[in-house]
Amino acid sequence: MEKTDIKSLSLEELKSLAVSMGEKPFRGRQLYEWMHKKLACDYEEMTNLSKDFREKLQESCRLVSLNPLEVQTSKIDGTQKYLFALDDGNVVESVLMKYKHGNSVCISSQVGCKMGCRFCASAIGGWTRNLRPSEMLDQIYKIQRLSKERVSNVVVMGTGEPLDNYENLLRFIYMLSDENGLNISQRNITVSTCGIVPRMYDLAEEKLQITLAISLHASSQEKRQELMPIANKYSIEEVLEACRNYFDKTGRRLTFEYSLVGGKNDSQEDADRLAHLIGNLNCHVNLIPVNPIKERDFVQSDKKVIEKFQNKLEKYQINVTIRREMGRDIDGACGQLRKRYINKKEDA
Ligand code: SAH
Repeated sequence: MEKTDIKSLSLEELKSLAVSMGEKPFRGRQLYEWMHKKLACDYEEMTNLSKDFREKLQESCRLVSLNPLEVQTSKIDGTQKYLFALDDGNVVESVLMKYKHGNSVCISSQVGCKMGCRFCASAIGGWTRNLRPSEMLDQIYKIQRLSKERVSNVVVMGTGEPLDNYENLLRFIYMLSDENGLNISQRNITVSTCGIVPRMYDLAEEKLQITLAISLHASSQEKRQELMPIANKYSIEEVLEACRNYFDKTGRRLTFEYSLVGGKNDSQEDADRLAHLIGNLNCHVNLIPVNPIKERDFVQSDKKVIEKFQNKLEKYQINVTIRREMGRDIDGACGQLRKRYINKKEDA
């Protein structure tokens, strides 16, 4: 029988588990705090639980604890990339970014990704499996423990499509923002999606205070189809309609991510079309100079072109920021550290 993944259980579920093992319910709360507040990696650390209870837990429940294989630190801005091994030998990567307003961790939500966006390194090896809530949480816990930095912001923008792992993502958000755990405010959590429309409607119904970021990357349906296969399933109009609904239901301003690819989506006409598409939405646009990956021949737009694109959007009173590149000197783009590791293993 498969052992219970104890770090994915909610406080209420842990209390029931404690009772089913002959303990008082408050032992469940202690367990929750050990795992999610004190970030224990091992039952041995849980010294206020009896030895007998800890032994029973050891037998019936597995305590997910990611194994850090590699840490890269940028000499430019202190950004750290972590490569973690999961229990089954798969690897995921996560990033710690240090900003003036606090530390932000970018986590992966799946091993690999099915979405196949043309410019993305994570798409190349395909999809292996979903991450469990415990495996998403532990990326943050391990980084906080290893770096000794307090994490205040979390972005689900690493490898994987979070809304393609919807149930686990929701549980992860509730646990991460739980006051008995790390207690990270939902306002400091961002989930980035390529636009899985039905799940965007489901998420709106949860009425969370998280920020939803949509990877738009194009100013028309045709151009989006060229870059993102998911556009064949859900049209850009359907995505924007789901965005409008998300704002109506939650009151949360949306973020649009737009990766500028030289000569593909960075013209002044693109900026005009984009402004018309999103102009009546309460939103913010994040322009990302595309991070070139060696398997594809996409190039970054010139600095001047990026600034002109930004100026044009601002003329329409749209809020725009150009994403500052972090950790340029370490395996930069999403999924590159993991890819390099897998390639090396295959060559060996
Ligand atoms: N699947 C989710 C989250 C992961 S990708 C999504 O699509 O939003 C996080 C962001 O990085 C997305 O906006 C994605 O399109 C962008 N991205 C991926 N590879 C990139 C690259 N090489 N250069 C610039 N942005 C990239």
